[in-house]
Amino acid sequence: MSSRMRVTKGHTGNRRSHHHIKEPRLSKCANCGAYHLRHRVCPECGYYRGKMVVDVVAKQEARLKKMQAKTATTEASSNKVEEKTEKNKKTESETESNKSSKAATKKAGAKKKESTAKKDEK
Ligand SMILES: [Zn+2]
Repeated sequence: MSSRMRVTKGHTGNRRSHHHIKEPRLSKCANCGAYHLRHRVCPECGYYRGKMVVDVVAKQEARLKKMQAKTATTEASSNKVEEKTEKNKKTESETESNKSSKAATKKAGAKKKESTAKKDEK
């Protein structure tokens, strides 16, 4: 890099002086008084412009149910995974035996080639 392209520390600092994050513009909920993002539903009570948009309690219950279902399914799936690994072990042992047999055939083929090469030499 040529010296003319060099940016001094001060130049870098001046550029980065505008990079700080601004505070979010929060407004007070008319229903419950909690702070929420502007033009968004209040996460505490689910109200927006004096109307209930989201049933927060029902949503939380649904989320809990979903979590419970998820944990139950993960337990069941973990059992399945264990079964799968056992199957994989069996197949691996089979493949290993196949490999050893293949290696034996390869060696035999190499020997044949050597023998043919010797014949050619003669
Ligand atoms: Zn609210």
